[in-house]
Amino acid sequence: MSIEVQYFLSNILFGLAIVIPLYYLLCRYFKKSKKKRKLKFGHYLVAVLIFSIIFFIRWKVSEININKDNDIKEPNQEEKTTTQTTTKKAQNNPNYIGTTPKGYTIEKINGAYYVDGYLVVNKTYPLDSNWVPKNTYKPVTDEICSTCIDNDAYDEWIKMKNDATSIGLNIWIQSGYRSYEYQQGLYEKYVSRDGKQQADTYSARPGHSEHQSGLSFDLNSVNDSFAATDEGKWVQDNAYLYGFIIRYPKDKSNETGYKYEPWHLRYVGKDLASKLYNNGDWITMETYFGIDSRYKD
Ligand SMILES: [Zn+2]
Repeated sequence: MSIEVQYFLSNILFGLAIVIPLYYLLCRYFKKSKKKRKLKFGHYLVAVLIFSIIFFIRWKVSEININKDNDIKEPNQEEKTTTQTTTKKAQNNPNYIGTTPKGYTIEKINGAYYVDGYLVVNKTYPLDSNWVPKNTYKPVTDEICSTCIDNDAYDEWIKMKNDATSIGLNIWIQSGYRSYEYQQGLYEKYVSRDGKQQADTYSARPGHSEHQSGLSFDLNSVNDSFAATDEGKWVQDNAYLYGFIIRYPKDKSNETGYKYEPWHLRYVGKDLASKLYNNGDWITMETYFGIDSRYKD
């Protein structure tokens, strides 16, 4: 029995529980001639009895149905709990923005969006124009800075670079932090050269570039051919060991909103990086968290 049928039946029974005893009493009352019209105690008793029986049936119907629902649809109960927890979280958390379809909490803290505690920058989630990374290896003073990288990310980068060197590979940071204003200039330059539609496929709009986060950098050469170099191949399969991900993997542009960028690394920590590595078939942050990467206009 569906919830709708149960609701309908419950309402019908409630109506009957009122109407039938009333009808019974009226029948008893009008049955006699005008002068003798009077209801006895027994009549009231029968009316109450009819009411009680129908009400009891109504109660039983709804009870049986609820138990049935509990047996069959346990996930439903879980869903309810999730919704309750989410509502509770939302009430207690002033940064709460929403929950992704995969159940991760979205927050906005000091001008940046976080999903499940991870900072997310893409076409849907921008950084505020005045957002600047803190706790960087070199404090941010310039518009562009290759070592203005988050301290943890930079530590891991050094380990990664040294390990690469030890097997004869040479990797370096070609482009690290970029300010909002710098990205703005860059984007506008590309738009005037190739048009907005084309520029959007390879350059981020200001606020939407991960380079503003201090958690991302480009390696060696911003060119597709990097993937085929020894360095490119090694990075593809080893970056996760240091907590980095290939942020824009091959054939995932419909998810990330960007074409394949084998040179662009993003620090997320080893835990998430090893999940996203997926034996070389990188899972995007968008798919993992269940979020979009799309400009509003
Ligand atoms: Zn990049």
